[in-house]
Amino acid sequence: MQIGNREKIGSPMKILLVDDVQMERMQLAVRLKQLGHIVEMAASGVEAIERYPEFSPDLVLLDITMPDMNGFEVSAEIRERFPEWIPIIFLSSHDAPQMIADAIDAGGDDYLIKPVDKLVLKAKLSAMQRIAFMRRQLNQKSADLAKANQELEKLASEDGLTKVRNRRDIDQKLQEMISVHGRHSMPLTVILLDVDFFKLFNDNYGHIEGDRCLIEIATALNDLFVRNGEVVGRYGGEEFVVLLGHNDAYQAEIHAQRIKTRLDELELRHEYSHVSKYVTVSQGVASVRPTGHETIEQLYHMADRALYQAKHQGRNRYVVYDPSMELQES
Ligand code: GH3
Ligand code: MG
Ligand code: MG
Repeated sequence: MQIGNREKIGSPMKILLVDDVQMERMQLAVRLKQLGHIVEMAASGVEAIERYPEFSPDLVLLDITMPDMNGFEVSAEIRERFPEWIPIIFLSSHDAPQMIADAIDAGGDDYLIKPVDKLVLKAKLSAMQRIAFMRRQLNQKSADLAKANQELEKLASEDGLTKVRNRRDIDQKLQEMISVHGRHSMPLTVILLDVDFFKLFNDNYGHIEGDRCLIEIATALNDLFVRNGEVVGRYGGEEFVVLLGHNDAYQAEIHAQRIKTRLDELELRHEYSHVSKYVTVSQGVASVRPTGHETIEQLYHMADRALYQAKHQGRNRYVVYDPSMELQES
């Protein structure tokens, strides 16, 4: 990650210059340009507010005495409409202390007395340049940080090898789904998948091929389940989990069959499997209509019991959980 340091303190500023008197506006604009700045002019407060968002100034030089909207009103409007704080320097021929105090109250940051002294103008612009520089740096750093946080969040929730959700994330997702589905009395399905004879796969093709195989399976699952409420994760080792929101056992069986069909189509060679020439999985399907109080362990347990039955019945198949399975030995 690169924290931006792409500009210097003395970089030109974009200055919005607002003055209703054309002569004064022009003279000041020339000086500002001579000092290397980019100037946008507005002859009234309304015009200034219109130009403001597109021009996106670093500094506003704002005359106080203007016919339609005076400088104080313009300043208040800018502060209200555009929350990012851009320095405003008021311009006025009045130097009464009360006027200066009112200007600061109206959201101004400084005050310049007209006719503007060259040296004072230069000094105040330098001070504002520092502020503009720091503001840009801060914005850049916030943007970099937000991006880094996003990447970090993604990394923290994803399985390093297969890039599907990791166990921690899938647990959290399941917990949320239990409460949401409980609240709306909607069915929810957990499918646990375990690769058949994967030890034999590893032993014969090697661990790296084994990793590749897991990636292929994860990718296939990820491609199959892209809808809202469909979540794919790695449960651990060579086991995956699919969460299906709003799905009862009937719909879940269709999805389990889709998984089986997709793996059949993939034809990942596994000559050492005892059930097929290709890599297959066993699936345990648990569908519940949660009350919201179930634990994730209870749901995993149900899916795991069904998965055990699928293995027991010969693998390369899915089995739907049934409470009678609690009575069968494991
Ligand atoms: P079953 O059909 O009963 O599921 O048999 P199995 O061989 O698949 O089950 P077993 O639990 O005996 O072996 C699982 C194997 O999965 C053993 C382990 O080395 C392998 N494995 C687990 N995680 C990974 C991984 O990240 N990469 C690779 N290459 N292998 C893994
Ligand atoms: Mg296993
Ligand atoms: Mg296995």
